[in-house]
Formats: sequence, structure tokens, C-alpha cells
Amino acid sequence: DLILFWHRRDLRISDNKGLATAREKSSQVVGIFCLDPNILEKDDVAPARVTYMIGCLQELQKQYQKIGSQLLILQGEPSQAIPKLAKALEAKAVVWNSDVEPYAQNRDRQVLEGLEAENIAVETCWDQLLHSPEEIRTKSGNEPYKVYTPYWRSWSQKPKEKPINTFPKNPTGLTEKQLKIAKENGIIDLPTAQDLGFVWENELILEPGEDAAKNRLEEFCDRALLEYDEQRNFPGNDGTSQLSAALKFGVIGIRTVWEKTVEAMENSRSDEARNNIKAWQQELAWREFYQQAMYHFPELEKGPYRDPFKDFPWRNNEDHFHAWCEGKTGYPIVDAAMRQLNEIGWMHNRCRMIVANFLTKDLMINWQWGEKYFMQKLIDGDLSANNGGWQWSASSGMDPKPLRIFNPTTQTQKYDPEGEYIRQWVPELSSLDTEDLVTGKISSKDREACDYPEPIVDHKQQQKQFKSLYQDQKQAS
Ligand code: FAD
Repeated sequence: DLILFWHRRDLRISDNKGLATAREKSSQVVGIFCLDPNILEKDDVAPARVTYMIGCLQELQKQYQKIGSQLLILQGEPSQAIPKLAKALEAKAVVWNSDVEPYAQNRDRQVLEGLEAENIAVETCWDQLLHSPEEIRTKSGNEPYKVYTPYWRSWSQKPKEKPINTFPKNPTGLTEKQLKIAKENGIIDLPTAQDLGFVWENELILEPGEDAAKNRLEEFCDRALLEYDEQRNFPGNDGTSQLSAALKFGVIGIRTVWEKTVEAMENSRSDEARNNIKAWQQELAWREFYQQAMYHFPELEKGPYRDPFKDFPWRNNEDHFHAWCEGKTGYPIVDAAMRQLNEIGWMHNRCRMIVANFLTKDLMINWQWGEKYFMQKLIDGDLSANNGGWQWSASSGMDPKPLRIFNPTTQTQKYDPEGEYIRQWVPELSSLDTEDLVTGKISSKDREACDYPEPIVDHKQQQKQFKSLYQDQKQAS
């Protein structure tokens, strides 16, 4: 009895709940992946992200081959392509892991209807989170959480599952005859990112595939985890895991990641080390917090959550927006960060907060422009985390702090005190004095000599204006 397992955000074999469920039900289990034009043809797709994803699919195909089965590639509307293939192969069931995104949920409903119409069973699991969105609710009102800190308290107290042994025994794959049928029913060779129209010439910050993600996790746990809380805010240091793309595509199991942190906790002798590990665990919980928020409040995807931002009179100056995108605002820390994003498809978290704050509070540009630009560039671009980060930075989200304003100069002095990060990404400024770099007090003469722009706005003035606009909106709403 053939079972098809539909991979989506779980591009791996080990520690995979849905895949383990499929294997429990049958010895013949075959993977499928559908290249979905509704996702790939949107205008917010990053070449780095597609390149990483295709690389992960290549690796996954190799893994399937090794265990004697296959990963089949489909292309087209999933609600048509998947039932068609399942029917042609006379599959008993199709299994997949659930997702929180509104599009995914709607798509999955349609695929389910298509399969049920053909009398093919469907089974789904929650795999990408340590706790599914329904699992964590307030004790008082049985409501989903809107605030992170109480969410974390409740989330961290729940017992966590251990990594799952997906295949205690390897499955079998398609027979020659079935393979022929599959080919007649939509199966294609895995295309390259270029075939799909995406060109990424730079190196990826994380090699595709499960092995590379596991190695990165090991290396991070040995190297930076024990200093995480002290180092994570300095973008010039290599203090974070850079595992975000692997977590976005489920290239590594979340239970596997968690177990590593528990082991590290058990092996550490000092409170200090334990606090550092806990700080990283809290980041993993932020990931889950934003995913459950998207699941319970899908309206977040569409726009601001809080009233004062519903009709906010954004300035939306296009020249300013382009200067921000290109890293030419005349604010070194902002420009360094945007150039890092453009060049490597990833940006340090501290800098994501700085540039998002600058776009919204200093340039007074609608945060949704920035949200989209990030999606067009990020290797780890993810609706829940990105929307959550942008709404947090714009102060339009569920975060209880009313207005958060960052001063780019203070941020630089605190987090890039030697100007290392700025020198790396804005090389034309590299010969300037550190003091000038980090205070941003670069003379017009120096700016001209370095071919570096004057600041496009004045932070103090803009901040005042923003606050007054915000007060007006607050009173009106
Ligand atoms: P680490 O510090 O090693 O953290 C480990 C993991 O925890 C990350 O890989 C990520 O999966 C998760 N995580 C950490 N911080 C957050 C957070 N604040 N929110 C949600 N998850 C978190 N993260 C994305 O994965 N995709 C995005 O599209 C994204 N967009 C963002 C946009 C803005 C404006 C902001 C402020 C943050 C955004 N983040 C996003 C969150 C965070 O910046 C990245 O997850 C982090 O920088 C990734 O680097 P890392 O893997 O080295 O993180």
C-alpha cells in the first residue's frame, strides 16, 4: 500500500513526525515536493532563498535514494497535481505536516478536498514547532497569547518531545512500473534555481541540506552557544547560529535542535553558561510565538494590528526608500546592514531591528514596504518571523510597548563600538577614525572624499515629527 509523503517546510528525513507516521502505516513510502507557482511567481521571492531550497531538495533526493526510495518532484497547482498523481499511483494515503500560514492552510484544505474526492485518505501532523499553536493558551481565558513573556513562561514549562526516529526500518520506493506511471502524471526532474528564473551568484551563508545544518548546529553549540547572550547583539561578531534558513525550511528537526540545548544545559557547570543557553532557547520560542500568532491572528499578514497604525499618514518618499534599499542613507550602520542583506541574503538580528526602525520612524515609510523588501532578499524570509519583526519594529503589532524609537548613533556606539561591522560592509568608510564612524559625525569633506552620501534625513527632527504624528493618530483612533 503506497503512501505519499508531501514535503513542504520539512526538507529532511530524520526527526520528521509526518514521515514517521507514514512509515508506521506502510512499508512503501515515497516523498513528493510540489513547485507551486502561487509561491514561486509572487513578487516577494528571494533568489538566495530559492537557491537554498533547491539545494536542499537535491540533498533530500540523495537521502531518499540512499534508503531505497524516491523524492518525486511535481510542478503546478498542488490541489490538482497531488490528487492526480496519488490517484494514478493508487496511493492509499497522502500524509503531510501542518503549517501556520494562511495561504498554506487554504491550499491544504483544497488538496485535502481533491484527495477525498478520489477516496484517498489524508493524515496530518504538527512537526515544525515544539508546541503546536493550539497547545499553548492562557490559563485564565484559554485564549492564544498575544504577549511574548507570558507565552514563554507557559511554553518553557511544557515537556518537549525527543527527536523522532523516522525510519526504524527503511521504506521501499516505487517499482519501475509505478515510476513510469508517475512520469506520465506530472513528475519532472528537479530544476535548478536558474531554470526557475532565480540567479544567485554569491556563496550561501549556509550550505543546503540536512548534514550541513546538523554540522552548523554542532559547531554553534561548541563555539558560540555558551556566550550567546553576551555576543548575540554585536553584528561584527559571529555570535549567532545562522541556522534560520534551515529552520525556515525544516532542514533540521526542531526537536533535534532543542535536544542539543538540553544537553548543553546538562553539561554546563556555571549559571552564566546556563543563562546563555537559555537566551538561545528564548529565541527558538520567539520563532514559535510568531508562528502561533500568525495561526491565530491571520489578519497580521494583511497589515497593522494596532489602531493608531491603521490609517497612518506615512510619508512614503520613494527616493528615501531606494536609498534605504541600496544602503545609501548616509547613516553608516543602516547602510552596512542593508548592504549585508543585499550581498549575502542575510542580516544580523540587531541590524534588522535598526534598519526597520529607521525605515519606519526616521523615514516614515510604511513598514510593509520594508517587510516586502526583506522577503525579496532574505534566505530565511518567513512570513511569521518577518511580519512579527516588522510589526514589532514599527510598533504596529501586538507588542505592549507603545512606541519604540532607536537612535542609530546610540545603537552603533553600543553594538559596533569599534566600527568593525561598518568597515566590513561600507568599505569606502574603512579608513575613517573609529570615533567619526560610530558617532556618524563625518564631515562633509570626508563624505565627499569617500564618495559617501550626506544623511538623507535628520534623526532628531524626524523622531519629533514621528512622535507628533503618532499622538494625532492615537487620539483619532
Ligand atoms: P539565532 O540568534 O541563532 O537564533 C536561532 C533561531 O531562532 C533563528 O534561526 C530563528 O529561527 C529563531 N529566531 C531568532 N530570533 C527570532 C525572532 N526575533 N523572531 C522569530 N524567530 C527568531 N527571522 C526569520 O527566520 N525570518 C525572517 O524573515 C525574519 N525577518 C525579520 C525581520 C525583522 C524586521 C526582524 C527584527 C527580525 C526578523 N527575523 C526573521 C528574526 C531574526 O532576525 C532572525 O531569525 C535571526 O537574525 C536569524 O539569525 P540566526 O539564525 O543566526 O539566529
